[in-house]
Amino acid sequence: MNLILLGAPGAGKGTQAEAICDRLNIPAISTGNIIREAIKNATDLGKAVKGYIDAGQLVPDDVVIEMVKVRLSNDDCKNGFILDGFPRTVPQAEALDKMERNIDKVIDIEVSDEDIKKRLSGRRVCGSCGASSHIDYKPTAIDGICDKCGKDTIQRQDDKPETVQKRLDVYHNQTVPLKQYYAKQGKLFKVYGQEDVKDTTAMTMKALEA
Ligand SMILES: [Zn+2]
Repeated sequence: MNLILLGAPGAGKGTQAEAICDRLNIPAISTGNIIREAIKNATDLGKAVKGYIDAGQLVPDDVVIEMVKVRLSNDDCKNGFILDGFPRTVPQAEALDKMERNIDKVIDIEVSDEDIKKRLSGRRVCGSCGASSHIDYKPTAIDGICDKCGKDTIQRQDDKPETVQKRLDVYHNQTVPLKQYYAKQGKLFKVYGQEDVKDTTAMTMKALEA
């Protein structure tokens, strides 16, 4: 099965990708990971991409598209794959359609902005040892103090409510047209993220069988 996974930052996409990989025994392909690997291994692609990133620019569509095309031609994608982080735009989706790897389903993990803000803005990390906690779901014994080393916990800039809202706005702006594109093809399957991750996973599995 050839799948695409959509979901806002903090929607729990990684967990669902893992569950699908286990069930269908297909690789999850994250463009973010391919880019990080390529940069780490200083491949030709890595060098090209690093140039854009160092200059603070977006990696151009044609570079990302070529990267995905090469990755999908690997043997491990013969029986299917899950794409995570690609396509992000309608032109990328059109390019994917031209690769002649028919997409069977697009699984869209939907979580309300309010819930995502609650999840992300409650996250804390220790400024000293990096241990993670959450004020609601995984609180430290003493408020604001790391359980492991006793130093202060902090909120990452990325997790501050105003930053989270900006990230969500960018996500929605990009994704609405993409969802329409796949809805028109009859391939969009929505999974509503539940309080308990196990319940979300059960709904994802149902969507695969639908
Ligand atoms: Zn600590």
